[in-house]
Amino acid sequence: MHAAVYEANRGLSVQEIPTPRLQPGELLVRVRAASLCGTDLKILRHGHFKIPPGCRRVLGHELAGDVEETRALVPAPQVGARVGVVPNLGCGRCERCADGEDNLCREHDALGITLDGGFAEYVRIPAAAVARGHVVPLPESVSYEEGVLVEPMSCVLNAHEAVQTEAGDRVLIFGAGPMGLMHLLMARARGARSVVVADPWPERRRRAEEFGADETVPPGEVGGLAGADGRKGFDVVMVTAPRPEAQQQAIEAAAIRGRVNFFAGLPAGTPPPALNVDAVHYRQLLITGTTGSNARQYRQTLELIGSGRLELGRLISRRAPLQDLDGVVSAIAAKKELKVILYPEGFEGNM
Ligand SMILES: [Zn+2]
Ligand SMILES: [Zn+2]
Repeated sequence: MHAAVYEANRGLSVQEIPTPRLQPGELLVRVRAASLCGTDLKILRHGHFKIPPGCRRVLGHELAGDVEETRALVPAPQVGARVGVVPNLGCGRCERCADGEDNLCREHDALGITLDGGFAEYVRIPAAAVARGHVVPLPESVSYEEGVLVEPMSCVLNAHEAVQTEAGDRVLIFGAGPMGLMHLLMARARGARSVVVADPWPERRRRAEEFGADETVPPGEVGGLAGADGRKGFDVVMVTAPRPEAQQQAIEAAAIRGRVNFFAGLPAGTPPPALNVDAVHYRQLLITGTTGSNARQYRQTLELIGSGRLELGRLISRRAPLQDLDGVVSAIAAKKELKVILYPEGFEGNM
């Protein structure tokens, strides 16, 4: 089968590799669509400590497809079922796993990182993932493309659960990249009263307005909007931009009892920013961080998408065959794309 294989120090190449063979308990998904995110770009630029030199890994953790073959030992989607896949798989033994928080398990596996992922014609799903319900049927109303976007959107849900975004909230989002726009859609779906998006680039601000932002500003103007001491501050502040200044500004812009989420990690080696802890104290702020998502959040996001309350289709800026991955990666690195849907050969126009 065709697959996009990553090797440390060698980069990514589309090559022919053997189609996976199933062991008892496992399931094979024929990939119909997949997408890249910041994590994939980070791996391509800086490598990943879980992909040591000499290891060859098929990348891709955002995917949807059809069950091609099953050796499941538990009730699981049957051959032909349209499915999405929860990519994180915890050890199954620790406290975090007992709480269903595979994304926080110290030893979690992940498709496209420690296991071969979805940038291929087929992806093998481990027995433990099948047993824990990580292969999730897509309702009729959800296309493969939307199925691909369940995973990143579920990470956004994780963040909004942490700060409990609710009806009437004034929301500020740092960053108008694909994740920032997903936060915008999620905030709207949860009934936010207003959403302001801060981004340095005029064309990205314009796009955020097209996506329904009430107002967009360069990050430097956020302070003016929020006023001194958070008097006109925001109830919810999401930081999707991987910049320490945005993290600092987020705290300054929070209202009394404001809730802040650090959604993006900082590039390795960035000195930790000085944060205004006094503001956290005197305004009784709630500061949170989230990373990834769990299977419950994946299913809940799928439900939300199925209900039609999130217009995710607008996030897709390009569709390309897997063979064009190189060009897609450069376009994303140049911030020219939102979400790009990759499809294995033969599935053109078959979404
Ligand atoms: Zn991702
Ligand atoms: Zn665990």
